[in-house]
Amino acid sequence: MIKENIERIASLIPIGVQIVAAGKSRSIAELKEAIDAGIEILGENYVREAEEKFKVIGRLVQWHFIGHLQSNKVKRAVEIFDMIETVDSFNIAQQIDRACQLKNKIMPVLIEVNSARERQKFGLFPEDVEPLIRQIGQLKHIKVCGLMTMGPFMEDQEQMRIYFRQTRQLFERMKLLYLPTVEMRYLSMGMSDSYQVAIQEGANLVRIGTAIFGKRRT
Ligand SMILES: *Cc1c(COP(=O)(O)O)cnc(C)c1O
Repeated sequence: MIKENIERIASLIPIGVQIVAAGKSRSIAELKEAIDAGIEILGENYVREAEEKFKVIGRLVQWHFIGHLQSNKVKRAVEIFDMIETVDSFNIAQQIDRACQLKNKIMPVLIEVNSARERQKFGLFPEDVEPLIRQIGQLKHIKVCGLMTMGPFMEDQEQMRIYFRQTRQLFERMKLLYLPTVEMRYLSMGMSDSYQVAIQEGANLVRIGTAIFGKRRT
């Protein structure tokens, strides 16, 4: 099933859009099946869970962190992840920067935008994105490479279009700032129920779990 699901999704998305297979709660066997079917990026929400999977899968794929990063997990996260998609404060950016300095590496990150201004959600309000990007620009071991948004949960993906569109517009505005250490390349938006609209609105990374692996059991 996983293989068929991936083939179907791949046939629906244009060249230039990459799938991040959202692996939370999925087994290593399921992830391997996805990799065999062509998945090149795994997205994980929890550092500990990712570590278990990483021990077996290693650098066969790229690893994106898509959960909320806690300070006490930063050191371990920078060991595994090739990109952190969910930076939403200067504090966490500084911690990533310090951890990467010790390892002599540069971490690509996306800024998480709370595009619908939902109270309970992580991510920055759109107007706070530019100041944070400018601030992160001073750090040498972390590089802003784009934006990520979850968008609100809605039954009908058409209703999410406006949030994706606004995030795209913000992405384009940030690109046009031509900040020296910033490279606005990735726009991560859309999940199983919304990736088609998200792509129409400019996403080039889509994070897909259920549509690949089936309903979550946990
Ligand atoms: C789980 C998850 C996804 C994938 O959600 P599905 O609806 O299962 O496709 C995408 N992004 C994040 C941040 C997630 O936690």
